[in-house]
Amino acid sequence: MKYPVNEIFETVQGEGHFTGYPVIFIRLQGCDVGCAWCDTKQTWIVDPDMQVQQDTVNKPCNDKPHWAYFTANEFIKTIQENKFIAKHIVISGGEPCLYDLMSLTSELEASGYFCQIETSGTSVVKATNSTWVTVSPKIEMKGKLPVLQSALIRANEIKHVVAMEKHVEELDILIEGVDITNKVMCLQPISQQKRATELAIKVCIERNWKLSVQMHKYIFID
Ligand code: SF4
Repeated sequence: MKYPVNEIFETVQGEGHFTGYPVIFIRLQGCDVGCAWCDTKQTWIVDPDMQVQQDTVNKPCNDKPHWAYFTANEFIKTIQENKFIAKHIVISGGEPCLYDLMSLTSELEASGYFCQIETSGTSVVKATNSTWVTVSPKIEMKGKLPVLQSALIRANEIKHVVAMEKHVEELDILIEGVDITNKVMCLQPISQQKRATELAIKVCIERNWKLSVQMHKYIFID
């Protein structure tokens, strides 16, 4: 199995439960969800004309829509050649669950890595049982894809972007019937907006949920 990759780089996790942990980010190319405020629009299309050599994508992509194919073994080789130290791999996108991630996550785990997937929940999650699944549900976006109940049930963490009360209500409707007892629930204010941040703090305190503030945007890193 080979995966189209937009960028691979080492950084610290900026969002959600693992904020602050050193991670290796693998951003897969391809997404059909269509969020208006998407900050990785370069990942939407797997354009054959934008295919490049592997060594072009082993660094931040600077918003370029290029991509290269990698097998699981080639990921591990690239990680070693780049002397990346982190043992936590974040498989993001784009929408990583467009792809069957079972072989990738199992081979990375066999090599000593902890895997986390960041998904919109609009595709079936195919990964090892020990993979940490973060679902950031994208509700009624342009692509008109429903958020799958199976993805919400599989999630270890549900991280929801909020701007106004309406978004909290949408989340409540979405998770009706999903047992969230053992899940990490995070609210993330959109685009560092003050009102959204105040709302997220209020709801997090009321519900004993976690605030996710996109730390990387405050400390100006990728
Ligand atoms: S799911 Fe993620 S990559 Fe896809 S459009 Fe939405 S924010 Fe962008």
